[in-house]
Amino acid sequence: MNNGSRSKRIAGAVKGAAAWIRRRAGRKTAIAVCAAVVAAGGGTVLVKQHIEAHTLSYTEVWIGGEHIGDVGDRNVIERSIAVKAKELAQAGGDILYEIDHGQVAYKEAEAYGKQLDDAAVAAEVGGKLKTHPTGVKLIVDGKSIAVVRDKATAERVLEQIKAHYAPAPPAADTNAANNAKKPAAKEVRSLSFSAQASAAEAPAADASATFEETVAIAEPTEIDASQVEDDEALVKRLIAGHTVQRVYTVKAGDCIGCIADEQQVSEDLIYQNNPWIENDKIKIGDQLNLTVQEPLLNVRSEETVTQTETIEATLEIRKTDELKAGISKIVRPGSDGKRIVTYKLLRRNGLVIEEEQVSTKVVTPALSTVMLKGTKVTPSEGSGKFIWPVSGHRITSYYGKRWGRLHKGFDMVGSSSVKAADNGVVELADDSMSGYGNAIIINHNNGYKTLYGHLSKINVKAGQVVEQGEAIGVMGNTGHSFGTHLHFEVYLNGKLKNPADYL
Ligand SMILES: [Zn+2]
Repeated sequence: MNNGSRSKRIAGAVKGAAAWIRRRAGRKTAIAVCAAVVAAGGGTVLVKQHIEAHTLSYTEVWIGGEHIGDVGDRNVIERSIAVKAKELAQAGGDILYEIDHGQVAYKEAEAYGKQLDDAAVAAEVGGKLKTHPTGVKLIVDGKSIAVVRDKATAERVLEQIKAHYAPAPPAADTNAANNAKKPAAKEVRSLSFSAQASAAEAPAADASATFEETVAIAEPTEIDASQVEDDEALVKRLIAGHTVQRVYTVKAGDCIGCIADEQQVSEDLIYQNNPWIENDKIKIGDQLNLTVQEPLLNVRSEETVTQTETIEATLEIRKTDELKAGISKIVRPGSDGKRIVTYKLLRRNGLVIEEEQVSTKVVTPALSTVMLKGTKVTPSEGSGKFIWPVSGHRITSYYGKRWGRLHKGFDMVGSSSVKAADNGVVELADDSMSGYGNAIIINHNNGYKTLYGHLSKINVKAGQVVEQGEAIGVMGNTGHSFGTHLHFEVYLNGKLKNPADYL
């Protein structure tokens, strides 16, 4: 056996061994090769040295059950997969895709005189990798209510819902008065951002806004592409909410307002849902449809507002017995004041549900209106004792017969104001009595009546209660009179009396 023939045999043995290695990849190949060589017979040491010098360690790359190729450096494949994963993660579009995990398998191998092209295998692997759609679930109170493209989208959707009910206050606005009134719920502002739009472009929510529900964004998972919801549509769906079916049976003592209060719905909703109700008439046993639309997410927000308010002038009533009951008189007109009040408002879905006054500062105090209110009650019944109806009186003609005629009373002059001789009710106050001119008769309701004639002016009306000493008219010269004076008569139980007996 020469060196040449031995070399051929060795080559043949190695070929055979290599084929076997390919068939039985993963075995301890070096030992297998040695065994084969030994079986071929002789020259063991030399063969071993030659094989070791030309044996190459490499890695088989498998996808699924398919052997894609062999590489010298598996990192080339791993890097190529990582690049592809990154491309997918950064891809636009409505749905994100991810490479299926664990689909590439490696097997270590060794072979004699192996030719490898890592790049070609990497390219082939790239073409054969399987992908799946991913998304994130929006979890509300432990229940998945939506699937969106990614976490950023989910965060943006949540921010949009908060901003819908509790928009961030304008940053530069320092005018407290302008800030005071905020619309209850603004319309959703432009939601036409693209999936790649930065969160900063979306309307911002008030920092205090929180959800009543427990809201979580799940880690991305494999999903069915058809589940992925467009963020704009999702915001609308969450705000529109779901229908909560409810029927209420009217019980004794119910009223529309009471039911609205008790069931926490608006009266409008009751009327809207139950158009059969007329004039608020409901009876026991009636079924009211109280079905409402409730948003899937409820937003609470807090806000502090400061506003200037008017302090209304109060009315201060001071009672006085210097004025008759029923008579009042403003002695000092009031004026409104001004104060700056700060409130803390708690809103639910944009509507104020609680209001707390945090501070108040009076700028201008209000000045109360002071009103005097009379308390004095004048009895319509006289005391039975008369006062002179004229101050500083001087009798010009007494009661009695004169020239064949009876002078029925006293004539007097003095202060021009004529006063009631006692409390009583005005029975007559006109010029209807012949000869008396403008005259007043007061019924003192105790049997007495007094008469005042020839007045220039009457200050009272029939039926009016007058008080002893009250000015009832002005002395005059009307009727059968010669010169200004008061003609005064006294009657008791319808009979004319001499005033001298009573004054
Ligand atoms: Zn007279």
